Amino acid sequence: MIPVTKPYLPNREKLNRYIDGIYERAWLTNNGELVQELTKRLEAYLGVENLLLVANGTLALQIAYRALGISGRDEPTEAITTPFTFVATASSLKWEGVIPVFADIDPNTWCLNPANIEPAITPNTRAIVPVHVFGNACDVEAIGSIAQKHHLKVIYDASHAFGVNYKGESLLKHGDAATLSFHATKLFHTGEGGAIVFKRKEDLERAKKMINFGITGPETIEELGINAKMNELQAAMGLCVLDEMEENLKARAAVWHRYEQALSQNLQLQAKPKELDYNYAYFPIVFESEEQAVRIIELLKEHGVLTRRYFYPSLESVESFGKKPIQPISKDIASRIVCMPIYSGCDVKYVLSKTKRYL
Ligand SMILES: *Cc1c(COP(=O)(O)O)cnc(C)c1O
Repeated sequence: MIPVTKPYLPNREKLNRYIDGIYERAWLTNNGELVQELTKRLEAYLGVENLLLVANGTLALQIAYRALGISGRDEPTEAITTPFTFVATASSLKWEGVIPVFADIDPNTWCLNPANIEPAITPNTRAIVPVHVFGNACDVEAIGSIAQKHHLKVIYDASHAFGVNYKGESLLKHGDAATLSFHATKLFHTGEGGAIVFKRKEDLERAKKMINFGITGPETIEELGINAKMNELQAAMGLCVLDEMEENLKARAAVWHRYEQALSQNLQLQAKPKELDYNYAYFPIVFESEEQAVRIIELLKEHGVLTRRYFYPSLESVESFGKKPIQPISKDIASRIVCMPIYSGCDVKYVLSKTKRYL
């Protein structure tokens, strides 16, 4: 079986040594030594400041909203977001009492189309939550100026954009905050985990309190908080995966380029800006029709190749978000998209030999 993705498993002996250290210190969580080390190393690797490690990528979004004052607790609050993403982008908003307002995507980059943001703004709009989908860069310049004009916060869901640079610097530097997911299936992972990169130090400081119940001292509770801390075992995994990032990236890039070479003539691939330094996290294809996409998924499955309709369905059609207007471009792309297997060690030759037969 060729899965659509495979968690990257780093050197076992190295992981064992980190675990020995955890046993010696008998310190398992609450901003331990390894969490502090991973924070510093990720800031250096990504070229960012104000990075906060958290328990997962969904809490990263929730904490980012709260730290920036976006919450539906006190007044009706809306955030404009994309329907073409993993469900957590929108469900995290709704979970915080913020109404997700979907605006349609660009048909080529598949990111939130800035032209659709202003028409969706109401007196209750407080934030824009775009997604760097599959690691592609949103139109950060246009989104930035709309946000400034209307005094809105921007929180990028950058779960797919680990290590992506745009115009020579980290894509994570855009927005008031950008969040990452370190779930096992992501490019860089800690089993479960995530991070927030804040623009401003004071927002980082507020978020640090929020992830530990708002507790700031043995007898002081300064904020409403929750438990969103990363633990030492997660950080140990992350330190080991980070050490092998270059090999991992090289292997994935090779798979990605093989796919591109073989498939880009006949099929629609994601359009990316020239100044993007990509991370080869995903290889999505848009087929000519939904029928073709579904047929190829089934045929590949018969050969042991697992692909995935990702992202499907377009989120405005998900019932838990209430009745929402259809977003035609997102709906169309979602109906025809298929993500191909990509991971370090993926047998791309076999996958391509089977795929090309059915095109
Ligand atoms: C994976 C993912 C998340 C959720 O992250 P978890 O770490 O699984 O909680 C959120 N948004 C996007 C776009 C994702 O791909």
